[in-house]
Amino acid sequence: MQVYEAGTGIGGTWFWNRYPGARCDVESLAYSYEFSKDLEQEWNWTERYASQPEILKYANHVADRFDLRRDIALETRVESAVYDEASGRWTVRTDRGDEVTAQYCIMATGCLSARNTPDFPGIDRYRGQHFHTGDWPEEGVDLAGKRVGIIGTGSTAIQAIPILAEESGHLFVFQRTPNFSMPARNTPMDPEYQARVKANYPAFRKPFISGMFGLDFNPNDRIGATATDAERRAEFEARWAAGGLGVVGAFADLFVNPEVNEAAADFIRGQICETVADPEVAELLLPDTPVGCKRPCADTDYFETYNRENVTLVDIRKSPIEELTEGGLRVNGCEYDLDAIVFATGFDAMTGALLRIDIRGREGRTLQGKWAEGPKTFLGLGVESFPNLFTITGPGSPSVLANMIPAIEQHVNWIADCITYMSGRGLARIEATEEAETAWVAHVNEIAHRTIYPTCNSWYVGANIPGKPRIFTPYLGFPRYVKRCDEVAASGYEGFRLEP
Ligand code: NAP
Repeated sequence: MQVYEAGTGIGGTWFWNRYPGARCDVESLAYSYEFSKDLEQEWNWTERYASQPEILKYANHVADRFDLRRDIALETRVESAVYDEASGRWTVRTDRGDEVTAQYCIMATGCLSARNTPDFPGIDRYRGQHFHTGDWPEEGVDLAGKRVGIIGTGSTAIQAIPILAEESGHLFVFQRTPNFSMPARNTPMDPEYQARVKANYPAFRKPFISGMFGLDFNPNDRIGATATDAERRAEFEARWAAGGLGVVGAFADLFVNPEVNEAAADFIRGQICETVADPEVAELLLPDTPVGCKRPCADTDYFETYNRENVTLVDIRKSPIEELTEGGLRVNGCEYDLDAIVFATGFDAMTGALLRIDIRGREGRTLQGKWAEGPKTFLGLGVESFPNLFTITGPGSPSVLANMIPAIEQHVNWIADCITYMSGRGLARIEATEEAETAWVAHVNEIAHRTIYPTCNSWYVGANIPGKPRIFTPYLGFPRYVKRCDEVAASGYEGFRLEP
C-alpha cells in the first residue's frame, strides 16, 4: 500500500483548518474511531467539543499507535490517476514525479478540502496579509492592533469571528448570507462522564449511528405539526439551553414540514434579537432560509461578538464586494482599509478535490467529462467506467450529513471487505453498473427533495461555486444507507460488475 498526502503532516481537515477557534461541533467522545477498543480506552478527551489542535493530536496518536506513517508519503500531491484496461491497473502520478501502478485506487480526498477563494476583481493587487481559513499558517498570525476583514459567515467564520475580534484591533465582517447558529456550551470534559462512556462505549455510540444524520441531536419522535406553540417553544428552549445543535432535532418533521421548520427558525431569530444589542445589526444577522438547509453551527459567543466596539458588520448581500484594492476592499463605493483579509469562503465541496485530479477510467473517459452535469456514483463508493476506483465519503454517500469518523470507518470497512471478497474468489475487477448508478443518483435526489435541504443556495447543492451544476450531493439517512451497503455486499455486490 502507498498513501499520498499533500500536507506536510497527516490529519486532513484538522491539519489544514488551523484558523483561530476551529473545533468540531460533534461531541469529542463520538468524533473518534471505534475500530480499536484499546484506543477508545486509552485516549482521553479534554473538552465536550474538541479543538482542532486536540483532534490533530489524536490523528497523530492513531498514526503512531498503529504504525501507519511508513506507508504515507507527505508533501506529495497526486496529479493524475489513469486506468489501463490491458493490465487492469491504475497509474498514479504525483507532483514529485512519482509514478506507481496499483490494482486499486482509493480516493480519500475529503469532502471539504478543495479551497474556494472567489475571484474578486483586484485580488492580485491587494498588498496586505491574506489567508484562507483552510490553509492557515502553522506558526499562527499576529493580528494585534490590526484592521482585519473576514469574508464569509459560514460555520468556519462563525467559529473564527469571536477569536479574531479578541485578537485584532478592529474586525470587519463582510456578510453575504446570515447563518443559523446555536450556542455550543462547550465545557471541560467531566472525568466521570468520560469514564461512564468508556464503560459502555457501544451504547454511547448507538444514537450517533442510528440517528438519521449519524449524529446525536437527541432526536425527538414527536411530530411538531401536532404540538402547540407553547410546546414547541418549550422544546426549543430546552435544547437551546442544553447547547449544541439539538434544536434541529426538536421534532421529527422539522426537516420536512416547512411550518415546523419556520417555528424553529423564528425561535432562533428571537434569540439573536435578544443577544445583539444594536437592532439594526441584529436585523442583518437574522437568517431567512429554513433552519438546516445550510449547515448550522454550534458557536461560542458568536452573536455576542457583534456587541463589541471593535467589530463592524458589513452587509454585502445587496452591494457585493466591488474589488480588492492595494490597501483593502471596496463595497458600495466605500473603501475599507485592511491590514489583513481572511477568506472564510469555503470549499468546492464534495466533488472539487476529485475533479482537481486528472482521473481517467476505461476508454480514456475522464471524471471531469463524466461529472460535467453533476456527480454520478453508486453508493458514493464506485463510479461506472472507473473500475477498481473507490471514493471514501464520495458524492452520493452520507458523508457530510453524518458524523464523519463513523462514516469514514463504514466506507473503509466496506472497501476492505470488498477487496478481501474479490481476492478470495480470484476476482480482479469491480465496476459499478450504469443501471445501478443511475438508480442511485435518482434515489439520492428523490430523498433530498422530500426535505427542505435543496431549497437554499448551499454548498450541499454546489451553489457557492459559480457554474457548478445544481445537484444535492450527500445522501440523507445514514442508517438506511449502511443497511443498503450491507445488503449490496451480502448479495455478492449487486449493482457492481465483478470480473476475474
Ligand atoms: P461555507 O459554509 O461555504 O461558508 C462560506 C462563506 O463565505 C459563506 O458565508 C458564503 O456566503 C461566503 N462567500 C463565499 N463566496 C463569497 C463571495 N464571492 N462573496 C461573499 N461571500 C462569499 O464554508 P465554511 O464556513 O468553511 O464551512 C464549510 C463546511 O465545513 C461547513 O458547512 C461544515 O460542514 C464544515 N465545518 C464544520 C465546522 C464544525 O464542526 N463546527 C466548522 C467549520 C466548518 P453565502 O452563504 O452567501 O454563499
